[in-house]
Amino acid sequence: QAKENGRDGCVLYSKEMDKQAEKHLLIRTELNHAIAREQLSLVYQPLIARDGSVASVEALLRWNHPHHGMISPAEFIPIAEGSGLILELGRWVLLEACRFIRTMEMQGIEPPMVSINVSARQFNQLEFAQKLLAVLKGQNVAPNKIELELTEYALLTDIAQVRHSMCLLREAGISIAVDDFGTGYSSLSYLKGLPLNRLKLDASFIRDMADGDASTAIVKSVIDMAHGLDLKFVAEGVEIQSQFEQLLDLQCDLFQGYLFHRPMNGEALKALLLTNCSKTKKEVSATS
Ligand code: C2E
Ligand code: MG
Ligand code: MG
Ligand code: MG
Repeated sequence: QAKENGRDGCVLYSKEMDKQAEKHLLIRTELNHAIAREQLSLVYQPLIARDGSVASVEALLRWNHPHHGMISPAEFIPIAEGSGLILELGRWVLLEACRFIRTMEMQGIEPPMVSINVSARQFNQLEFAQKLLAVLKGQNVAPNKIELELTEYALLTDIAQVRHSMCLLREAGISIAVDDFGTGYSSLSYLKGLPLNRLKLDASFIRDMADGDASTAIVKSVIDMAHGLDLKFVAEGVEIQSQFEQLLDLQCDLFQGYLFHRPMNGEALKALLLTNCSKTKKEVSATS
């Protein structure tokens, strides 16, 4: 009997492994065609300011596979990073974000700043900053409409080179955020030497926040540190009201999470911006 179970357990385990390997292979081969076959899209998730307004939006990549449905970027981005395809995906994301900003402008909607996730491999390619600025110029998009979200991994290489690229980008008007802060292996010392705008603390710290919990102490310390360095602090993964209230108390600057909005397609975002905008206008005319 025990032997049977053992064998069953073994079979299940290897089936699971097979499935994973199969998915990995599928992603590696099919992702190559995803751009040409128009299977990619961007969704946008608002970042909310303390007064409840939309401060900016984060662009998040989606891959809608005709047979396998939505495949998460958490699954395919690491694979794209391994194969070098990330460079092509990154270019597509930037172009698509630019097109979206231009569309809004042409429709008379004031576009918010759009944050784009940039992988370490992308950021560390030769002349990344120059190439990015050239794309913005070609697309007629103002650099102050773009923020780059970099993880600590992008900062782990040649720090002088990283600082040089960042200075070029900042001088041109682009914003820079550190994403998933607290999950990498970098030292804190890089924070004082780099021209950053925002610090996004990883959602895991927000999730674990509860009265008396050690995570609350970490969140408080990181907020104070961010402000000491003149950075705006962003909490990601805010899902419940009590987290929001705690973060408000701790002087958190910006909030992102399902409590406010899920990532949405471009049309839904435009509708949201239009109602927000007319609400503000109504409030203004009511008080004047
Ligand atoms: P990220 O940049 O840290 O993005 C935040 C992730 O958390 C997104 O997952 C978002 O949908 C999700 N999220 C937002 N609010 C909540 C919440 O309240 N609760 C929970 N449970 N999740 C929330 P998503 O879209 O699946 O993206 C996963 C990761 O994939 C991103 O993490 C980012 O590292 C990467 N990624 C996404 N798009 C791109 C891209 O265009 N380029 C690159 N290089 N990476 C990307
Ligand atoms: Mg991000
Ligand atoms: Mg993040
Ligand atoms: Mg994250």
